[in-house]
Amino acid sequence: MSFEPICKPSGPASVPPNLVNYESARASFSWDAARRELDGLPDGAGLNIAHEAVERHATGRRRDHIALRWLGRKGSQRDITYAEFGELTSRFANGLAELGVKAGDAVYVLAGRIPELYVTALGALKHRCVFCPLFSAFGPEPIRSRLSIGQGRVLVTTEALYQRKVAPIRDSLPHLEHVLIVAETDPPSAVPGTHDFGRLLAGVPDRYQISPTRPEDPALLHFTSGTTGTPKGAMHVHEAVVAHHTTGKLALDLHPDDIFWCTADPGWVTGTSYGIIAPLTNGVTSIIDEGDFDAERWYRVIEQQRVNVWYSAPTAIRLMMKLGEDVVRQHDLSSLRFLASVGEPLNPEAVVWSHRAFGTPFHDNWWQTETGGIMIANFASMEVRPGSMGRPLPGIDAAIVRRAASGAIEVIQDDESGELALRPGWPSMFRGYFGQPERYASCFADGWYLTGDLARRDPDGYFWFVGRKDDVIKTSGHLIGPFEVESILLEHRAVAEAGVIGKPDPQAYEIVKAFVALKADFAPTDELRRELLGFARTRLGAAVAPKEIEFVPKLPKTRSGKIMRRLLKARELGLPEGDISTLEEN
Ligand code: AMP
Repeated sequence: MSFEPICKPSGPASVPPNLVNYESARASFSWDAARRELDGLPDGAGLNIAHEAVERHATGRRRDHIALRWLGRKGSQRDITYAEFGELTSRFANGLAELGVKAGDAVYVLAGRIPELYVTALGALKHRCVFCPLFSAFGPEPIRSRLSIGQGRVLVTTEALYQRKVAPIRDSLPHLEHVLIVAETDPPSAVPGTHDFGRLLAGVPDRYQISPTRPEDPALLHFTSGTTGTPKGAMHVHEAVVAHHTTGKLALDLHPDDIFWCTADPGWVTGTSYGIIAPLTNGVTSIIDEGDFDAERWYRVIEQQRVNVWYSAPTAIRLMMKLGEDVVRQHDLSSLRFLASVGEPLNPEAVVWSHRAFGTPFHDNWWQTETGGIMIANFASMEVRPGSMGRPLPGIDAAIVRRAASGAIEVIQDDESGELALRPGWPSMFRGYFGQPERYASCFADGWYLTGDLARRDPDGYFWFVGRKDDVIKTSGHLIGPFEVESILLEHRAVAEAGVIGKPDPQAYEIVKAFVALKADFAPTDELRRELLGFARTRLGAAVAPKEIEFVPKLPKTRSGKIMRRLLKARELGLPEGDISTLEEN
């Protein structure tokens, strides 16, 4: 079934889009000019994300503007102006200095969407530390591996998360020197081996001068997953802020008086680039909702907070669609001006539905942890092609490529599927995988960055997602590495072999499904299945653990012993098995 392009009215005349004409914006764009829209540190002392996001507003005309409006899970609300945010983040930077933490040290956060998370992010950047967020629904194992790979020296977390997930693994983290606990009780309870976040901040000044920062100094560490091996820590530098700011303006159409709501959790890259940095550099008010997804409450938030720009994800949109249009109509959502979506394929039905329900469609855009910012987008001023990810941002060269018989990378013609590739050189491009130079090098060939995504380009330059080249799983917008899940299952005494795939799901796009072969003395009972599901959930956390386990007598493997996940998936879907010449039993 094909879907007609959506030509939208250009929105209220009072708010013309930032990108008016795609072709001319591309033709006149340069990253140097984009960089000049930012201030830079005073006296030519370089470029620091925290200065652009907080300090320049805190000391300028926007000081009394609300930077963050935090909506607590239990109904409370806290407004933090740019001036106050400047003070809080300065306190945190001073607190780090007091602890002896140095520029370049890694400061991690493991917390739900609480104000202290945001203070940690920008305070750490002020002190020129590397900020690394961890998703609060991770279990101890993903937390341990990420803290260990990135050599986290400081961790900010809550008491409950600490006791449940960090205390049991702390002995295995020699680099982790300081744990700062955000109190959940008043007075805070004393947790041995930790500092109290509030007390540390109360005892230090609320002014902090950012030291000279080079644009290439490391700033952010975001973990992502591959098909094999440990998680990969993608490193980004302070210069990334140029892309955060520019793409916030061009792809999300942020205007200074907007009320912006990015529903992504900062435990994943979208929640940092667009849930923290881009809205702040653009000086807008950002809504932070501590609560989990609930369509009706979300509509109330939009109505009550008069949200103008809303950045969300396909899983949530599909759930809203399931609930229906009538529920939408019970709310006054007329404040909405621009809707965008990212993280997994946004099906054309959802685009068309959102246009009907909200009066403006969700605009799909594409990027990944490695690119640090939006690369391909449906822009406010452009016709939307439902099912397409849109067109490359100004300053971004994208193409569909394949490897020729000679080994060279060649660009292929329109309408044919191949790998999506980008010409490196934009500011938020990752600069490495922490400690894994070979994995980083393998992402590049013949001057292209190879994204691992399969896509096609139509003759008008719109890109369409086709699938992944590798075995990573996208579930509810979160990227999961099958190897990380298989490794934990193998630690269970009953498991001989495990193979993990993404099983298509109408809401979550995919769910994590494990195939398990048991050791000889174990029987495949429902009780054992439940035990394994619980075991994986305790170790990996709800975000990563499999939702389904199927027992199989043995797993299909290549002759060199690698599990053929592709085959497991084909069998699961009842699809042709493809080339099985390397299958062990053949
Ligand atoms: P992450 O690094 O966790 O942000 O995941 C990036 C991956 O998510 C991409 O490489 C794609 O496979 C997928 N992805 C992101 N945005 C889209 C989109 N708009 N359409 C389809 N897939 C997407």
